[in-house]
Amino acid sequence: MSTIKDIIVEYYRIPLPELVSDAKHGVHTHFEVPIVKVITDDNRVGVGYTYTGGFGGRSVAKLIQIELRNALLGKDPANVEHLWEVMQTAVHYLGHGGLASFAISAVDIALWDLRAKKAGEPLYKLLGGSSNEVFTYGGAIDLSFPLPKLLAHHKKYLDMGLKAIKIKVGQKTLAEDIERVKALREMIGPDTLFMVDANMSWTVEQAIKAAREFLKYDILFLEEPIDPNNYEGHKIIADRTGMAIAAGENLRTPMEFAHLIKYGQIGFPQPDASNVGGITGFMKVAAISHVNNLPVSAHGMQELHVSLLAALPNKGYLEMHSFPIDQYTTRPLVIDKKTGYAIAPEEPGTGVTFDFEKLAPFKEEF
Ligand SMILES: [Mg+2]
Repeated sequence: MSTIKDIIVEYYRIPLPELVSDAKHGVHTHFEVPIVKVITDDNRVGVGYTYTGGFGGRSVAKLIQIELRNALLGKDPANVEHLWEVMQTAVHYLGHGGLASFAISAVDIALWDLRAKKAGEPLYKLLGGSSNEVFTYGGAIDLSFPLPKLLAHHKKYLDMGLKAIKIKVGQKTLAEDIERVKALREMIGPDTLFMVDANMSWTVEQAIKAAREFLKYDILFLEEPIDPNNYEGHKIIADRTGMAIAAGENLRTPMEFAHLIKYGQIGFPQPDASNVGGITGFMKVAAISHVNNLPVSAHGMQELHVSLLAALPNKGYLEMHSFPIDQYTTRPLVIDKKTGYAIAPEEPGTGVTFDFEKLAPFKEEF
């Protein structure tokens, strides 16, 4: 048995290539990436990480450095699921869900990296997957893009080979949203999948009105129309309109997914391993989804989620997100141009190997 000798945390704050905005969080200028290195007494290193939209990353890094590190030193890193419970218990009283889930996620991903490297397996195979292909869509934080720029941006996804796109909605008026949805549908044609994302900006009534309009343009799902805590609201929107609802990026525990699926009747759960408890949390959500006959899609961190979705019998849609974490790794997301599928990495471990030279200019104290 080996033990955890040290846990090192680094904090990076990376400027976005351009300012982007959505209907809830306003303008994004940076994204943050706290990176965790779990080091064993036999000198193996597992690397994990989480990310934020530019706020709170230092606090996450501190929580890992002080609380989670103390909880895990000397423990056997092979007991990943047990250590997940140890971490949950260590910070439960002060941070059930919320910030704590980001911190636990980063460490959990590092533990899975150790496990997969030790097994000599790529993550998707270790988790039981048989195919490395994942259906992928282009998702942009494009609410403030003028229409010509919006069209040009999504044309780029099609040129890459992707067969699905998603845009932000939640403009000042519904008429503006409809105009953009209509223009996009005309550009992409009838065979490209098309989704929209309101980033929790509406009331149930507003969402019902919008969903009825969007259905005319063959929208696959409406993402986060309302506050995610309003579980029943999701069901009301779906029941009243027939529109499938997607949500999950703002849920922080597998139990919250269980509730949103049970009471909200969502059609497309979208866990994010960076904030739902890492790979352990993601796989719990995948199991809950499976027994409810739902596909699992993912939000953000496409460089890792490609392996998680590839592992699932109920794999849904991989989001190619606008925070380009993958550009700071040695293997940015690989898309098969012919099929439009993303391809999971074959190297042992999570397959997310950071390019620390490229990251170096963005390292900051926390
Ligand atoms: Mg979203």
